[in-house]
Amino acid sequence: MTENRSHAERALSPRAVDALLLDTTPWLSCDDCFTRMDTHVEALLRTGTSPDPVMDRHLQGCVACSEEAESMLALLRDDSL
Ligand SMILES: [Zn+2]
Repeated sequence: MTENRSHAERALSPRAVDALLLDTTPWLSCDDCFTRMDTHVEALLRTGTSPDPVMDRHLQGCVACSEEAESMLALLRDDSL
């Protein structure tokens, strides 16, 4: 686990920062989760760490969404090879 990655390194867009600041819900709905899935999985592949703790938390608690994330990860990995 590498947790000492600086925030600047993650290169969040201003929009992403806004979204993070606005979102005070500790638990996403599955709809929200699916909306963010693309961005989340892409960032995960790029940085190797989860860019969105809220999303992460939903995925830990939701089998449906975490399976979706897993298959999307697998697809994107294949694409980039
Ligand atoms: Zn879900």
